[in-house]
Amino acid sequence: MPDHSPPRVALLGFSIECNKFAPPATKAHFLARTYLEGDAILEDARLPTPTMLPETPGFVTAMDASGPWTPVGIALAMTEPNGPVEHAFFAELLDTISRRLRTALPVDAVYICSHGAGLTTEEDDPDGVLFERAREIVGPNVPIAATLDLHANVSERMVGSIDVFIGYRTNPHLDMRERGAEAAVAIREMLGGVKPQRAFIRLPIVPPTVTMLTAAGPYAEMIDFGQHRMTPEIMNVSVMGGFAFADTAKNGLTVVVTARHNRRAAEALAREIAELGWANRERFYPRLTSLDEAVAKALAVGRDPSAPALVFADVADNPGGGGRGNTTFLLRAFYEARVLAALLGVFYDPDLAAEAHRHGVGAHFEARFNRSETTRFSEAYTAPVTVIALTDGNCVGRRGIYAGLRLELGPCAALQVGGITLVVISHRVQCADPIFFEMMGLDIGRARSVVVKSRGHFRGGFDEFFGPEQIVEVDLPGLTSPMLTRFEWTCLPRPVIPLDADVEWVRP
Ligand SMILES: [Zn+2]
Repeated sequence: MPDHSPPRVALLGFSIECNKFAPPATKAHFLARTYLEGDAILEDARLPTPTMLPETPGFVTAMDASGPWTPVGIALAMTEPNGPVEHAFFAELLDTISRRLRTALPVDAVYICSHGAGLTTEEDDPDGVLFERAREIVGPNVPIAATLDLHANVSERMVGSIDVFIGYRTNPHLDMRERGAEAAVAIREMLGGVKPQRAFIRLPIVPPTVTMLTAAGPYAEMIDFGQHRMTPEIMNVSVMGGFAFADTAKNGLTVVVTARHNRRAAEALAREIAELGWANRERFYPRLTSLDEAVAKALAVGRDPSAPALVFADVADNPGGGGRGNTTFLLRAFYEARVLAALLGVFYDPDLAAEAHRHGVGAHFEARFNRSETTRFSEAYTAPVTVIALTDGNCVGRRGIYAGLRLELGPCAALQVGGITLVVISHRVQCADPIFFEMMGLDIGRARSVVVKSRGHFRGGFDEFFGPEQIVEVDLPGLTSPMLTRFEWTCLPRPVIPLDADVEWVRP
């Protein structure tokens, strides 16, 4: 039966990266960031500064540009990385998505915006549960395309439930909009009759975060190789590094190849890329700078104005991986060593920010850090400070992963602590954008040392100020330490690199 009405395409999503060692994420975390149902998804996606990450806006823009369509907003829940999601909220979201998707039938295609490293307090593969549910509802013949973060931990169920699997290819993540647009192209092709085939290989390597950059290194080489081997038959190559701290049985560096028709072509290419990763397995071990060495470097650049300034990444306390953004190890060491001309941000401490607002600009007081946050790394610390600036924390991201996004950091304060200017925030985010210092009137270009609570996304925001040779990744305690041997894993597949000796890869 020929039907010339525009295709009806359902949009839905669940996007959070979960660290099993961090406190749970609640419904309130999603409501505070992005929780949308129905047409509100399209409204937010079409705003100049949406609250959601750019995959869905990229998808919507590319669908709009490529012909008529009828978007059907279902539900989209997205928030900052955190601990496992309270299961009751995930169950509620799944019910809402199911009810709305059934009501929307018939649909001609589905787009899912997913992170892929979600957890709930009861389920280690909620992304797979969602994909499977969407497939059950629309049936086997309706095309489904999903976009995923390259930190996704990939299950058979995820790959088996959808038609096209599209992972980010850049870390820091600067291609989210392009991957959303790629999903739109894939959906148009499938509406035209293409029935894609996928291949999927997981390696016994759980790459520590700092070994997963895409500018250079073993992971970058796998991605580049895959892209160079694209042919007209191959629709997408996704190399997913995964997120170690989810601690699931589906963890591991994964290659997913989608072919337009030929499963064997997908399998052959996936195998070649996996072989390259395996050949480079010795390079998936992290190398970090000790705290003592970091202090010495900061003192040295503080004394020598001709030396290039340095950025110190507190990779173990990265809110972008579920860290609390409030450990004091670097602050304390730099303060006690009298490091000069340093910026440090962004430090999550709503109590301290509120106190600074009560005292006002110019006030001196004894700051008590971490008076209420309680993880074993969030130690209490006291130091004399001066309030030098206050804001409400509303800003628009300027550069990197947050560029163009509307952000609410809550009441913020810039505090002078010895030679360090510290930016304190009230809503936990990763220090990935220079705007977090600039909105306080601070000049990054004049700092000799800049400490960022970020694992890698700061590279996309602060590249105007610091080249790769000016970056120091510091080895500190924390919920997101790349030193994976320091954690007690319960679900990771073993034996696995970099935790075990004599790891073998059983080829498929
Ligand atoms: Zn990611």
